[in-house]
Amino acid sequence: MSAGRPADRTSLWLDRSAPVADDELPDAALDVVVVGAGLTGLTTTLLLARAGLRVACVEARYVGAVTTGHTTGKVSLLQGTHLSRIRRHTSASTARTFVDASREGMEWLLRFCDDHGVATQRRAAVTYAATTGELGTVEREHRVAEELGLPVQWRDRLDMPFPHVGATVLADQAQLDAMEVLVALATQVREHGGTIHQGRRVRSVSTSIPGSGDPVAHLDDGHDLTARHVVLATGAPILDRGLHFARLEPQRSYALAFSGGPDLDAMYLSAGSDSRSVRDAPGAVLLVGGSGHVVGRTRSAQAHVEALRSWTASHWRDVTETHAWSAQDYRTPDGLPFVGHLPGGGGRVHVATGYEKWGMATAVVAARAISGDILGSEPSWAGVLHRRLPHPSGVAEVARFNLGVGASLVTGAVRTVREHLPGTGGAAQAHECGVVGVCTHLGGLLRWNDAEDTWDCPLHGSRFTRDGEVLEGPATRPLRRRSPG
Ligand SMILES: Cc1cc2nc3c(=O)[nH]c(=O)nc-3n(C[C@H](O)[C@H](O)[C@H](O)COP(=O)(O)OP(=O)(O)OC[C@H]3O[C@@H](n4cnc5c(N)ncnc54)[C@H](O)[C@@H]3O)c2cc1C
Repeated sequence: MSAGRPADRTSLWLDRSAPVADDELPDAALDVVVVGAGLTGLTTTLLLARAGLRVACVEARYVGAVTTGHTTGKVSLLQGTHLSRIRRHTSASTARTFVDASREGMEWLLRFCDDHGVATQRRAAVTYAATTGELGTVEREHRVAEELGLPVQWRDRLDMPFPHVGATVLADQAQLDAMEVLVALATQVREHGGTIHQGRRVRSVSTSIPGSGDPVAHLDDGHDLTARHVVLATGAPILDRGLHFARLEPQRSYALAFSGGPDLDAMYLSAGSDSRSVRDAPGAVLLVGGSGHVVGRTRSAQAHVEALRSWTASHWRDVTETHAWSAQDYRTPDGLPFVGHLPGGGGRVHVATGYEKWGMATAVVAARAISGDILGSEPSWAGVLHRRLPHPSGVAEVARFNLGVGASLVTGAVRTVREHLPGTGGAAQAHECGVVGVCTHLGGLLRWNDAEDTWDCPLHGSRFTRDGEVLEGPATRPLRRRSPG
């Protein structure tokens, strides 16, 4: 298996989209190398190319390969229970800044779609309580959204077949096909003189080259790209010096698309920990998502897919499943993204991550902040997001993330001892696949993902194909092969 598109598990959006063409690698020094061709990377590349900079976007797999190509594609300022989570960890003023920045990000994205023929559909966004136990959470989200200036409305009843006991609703949000956006961004990047290079993984970035302060991106095919700035738009950052991996929790969840679905006038998300996300898409498509967990920390990923399937079947009888996929995004201790300079990079290595499954607007926020920083025209809100003070509850969240990592290390060690005994556990499976089941990032013991036939790391979310190629996460090197015999 290669790290290319697996035909049977592709998302609705990737299935509908044509591959994006590649450019020749530039041989002269660049102004900026952007690493990663998801929404963050391509938007950053375009903003810099439009400003006249020489910019190349280097992508390990293909445009949209990771989270953007597998998103649910809701573009909304009401983001499940994200606002109350941010508010719990930050001041009202910081939370308001996040909403203002997101509003600008959302407006930029929707204007870009209008200008470049990308279809969007206006829909209300709904956060609902499926049970009375979830009601308090939704009521709090409603109050916080009001506090932050969003014109939400309370509803006791929704015209939907799934159980619900109350909801907060924000009118006039939007939904889209994120691959259509990426394809339009790629076209615009080229029109403005930028270049895109797929199938090239950046292994490392050097920042202390004698006689030059310019960082150098080292590609796995032996090429080096020198630029005044490097932007890591890789989801989880691929360099460890910011220790972001210790402050990010990788969360994976699942999505199903069905034909024969109803026309909906809203996008729904339940407030519970086992959430359900529902939207429609052009062509009578029903999309159902949710059933998430920390990457690599579940007994059976397939059980999460089955849970979504049976939930859908119990509410919509006449729909037919066409696509099943899954994806991950990264949670931060305070709910706000990490956008800024990587330590030790002399202000020349930039990073953006931690969108908590709300990256459609936040990726644009990050792209505008980073491109503004490079061009000397940062938006007024960017500094507030960079310089926020750690709140005690955020520190507690970091501790919780790392307790999870510690627990995975211990259970991983116990499991390995058990699985090396006769039987067919993950380690035995790794043996069969000819790979060593140990993550090349920080040595986590990998778990077999039975829904996607992949190796998933429970520590920081790196994932590998059955044959050991890197799929996503902070790892940049394939799994070691077992020596024969
Ligand atoms: C299941 C799910 C549903 C979601 N639904 C929504 C939603 O409805 N609304 C919303 O706003 N947000 C949603 N999100 C979040 C949103 O999709 C993401 O936050 C956003 O797409 C992230 O974009 P990105 O460009 O930062 O990352 P990605 O799209 O992951 O792009 C990173 C790119 O970097 C590349 N890369 C990584 N390492 C290297 C390397 N070493 N060298 C070169 N390239 C590299 C990867 O191959 C990848 O293509 C959802 C997320 C998930 C997981």
